[in-house]
Amino acid sequence: MFEQTLLKNINTENYHQLEVYRTGGGYAGLRKALNEYQPDQLIQLVKDSQLRGRGGAGFSTGVKWSFIPKDSVLPTYLCCNADESEPGTFKDRLLIEKDPHGLIEGIAISCYAIGAKIAYIYIRFEFIYGTRILQQAIDECYAQGLLGKNILGSGFDLEVIIHRGAGAYICGEETALLESLEGYRGQPRLKPPFPAISGLYASPTIINNVETLACIPHIVLRGAQWFSDIGSPKGPGPRLYCLSGMINKPGVYELPTGIPLRELVEEHGGGAPNGKKIKAVIPGGVSAPMFAEKDLDIAMDFDALAAAGSMFGSAGVIVMDEDSCIVKVTLSMLEFFHIESCGKCTPCREGLGWVLKLLRRIEAGAGKHGDAQELDRLGEAIFGNCFCALGDGAIMALRGALGNFRDEFDYHIAKGHCPFKTESIVLHRTRATG
Ligand code: SF4
Repeated sequence: MFEQTLLKNINTENYHQLEVYRTGGGYAGLRKALNEYQPDQLIQLVKDSQLRGRGGAGFSTGVKWSFIPKDSVLPTYLCCNADESEPGTFKDRLLIEKDPHGLIEGIAISCYAIGAKIAYIYIRFEFIYGTRILQQAIDECYAQGLLGKNILGSGFDLEVIIHRGAGAYICGEETALLESLEGYRGQPRLKPPFPAISGLYASPTIINNVETLACIPHIVLRGAQWFSDIGSPKGPGPRLYCLSGMINKPGVYELPTGIPLRELVEEHGGGAPNGKKIKAVIPGGVSAPMFAEKDLDIAMDFDALAAAGSMFGSAGVIVMDEDSCIVKVTLSMLEFFHIESCGKCTPCREGLGWVLKLLRRIEAGAGKHGDAQELDRLGEAIFGNCFCALGDGAIMALRGALGNFRDEFDYHIAKGHCPFKTESIVLHRTRATG
């Protein structure tokens, strides 16, 4: 029987306050880590749990930690990636606003494991409320000896600093995040060297996502076996799924990895509103190619989704019903990628602009014979030739639409109009103003 972990106390009143968090057992994981584990043992524990990153790439967290050199004379840093900007993804925001101490506890344990004395939380510019909540929680920790010098009398010191981004999606890419944190333009760096060897200020740096770090106290308290017994054997644990789009019950759901996508959208999400049929589902944020309804029995598992040509990504699940126009949805996604392209490499900067011109023409009913083939050709020219994953992600999204719903592109081109009467979901970035 699956039991909620990350969201268990999310509705407890004032859970963001240290006193309430501690009443529920908060910081017992940090105390246990400091008292009972050597740093190397913690890294092994997280390796044994088989926790994989929840931000998108799905790399083993424990293995990543183990890449930190033991003999470096430079300081080691931890960067928490809280720049959650993938359309359809809003789980980290929930954790930050409702359970900031769960994140801080995870950061403190992780820093102890990798030998970092400074942690940065790189937070999305638009998370104004979340930034305030998080800063209050950090201040409470300093006041209570949970951050700063000699934490809980252990001799371990840690400073945690929040750094607000400036509103760029690309800064969720780990090396662009580091550039931005150092005060430079947020553009990806060439890898290798990977950040674990040469990251922030050319020092060893681990970059972990909010949800990933929030798992750490639970692994310390309940053990690696408990975690690895949940969900998919090769990528276990609880997972926060974000359901949005044409769905009856949108929201963040905590469920095991490996559950069928159909169960997620039909049983937990209640299916599409007004009794309509589901046409397509994006399983892991807009960079993850969409599935047609016939493919929804796939397991929400890193390997199964990759084998099917998509990805688990951020577990941002976006549902389109039978009246959604896939051409319009694709246009919306590509507009997003084009706007967010950092401009560093030509295939992404220029190529996505060409893709967009064609999509705009097709969607406006002015498509020409051969435009769909031209989209294929541009995809081939761009994919695999980009400096970072943004350009490839854009083409994967395009290919998911073209591969599953070619007939809709052909219809728009042949007939010169859209066959769907209702408004499609339009993906857009939300910008806070206050
Ligand atoms: Fe920048 Fe796009 Fe090139 Fe990535 S792929 S470096 S976002 S231009």
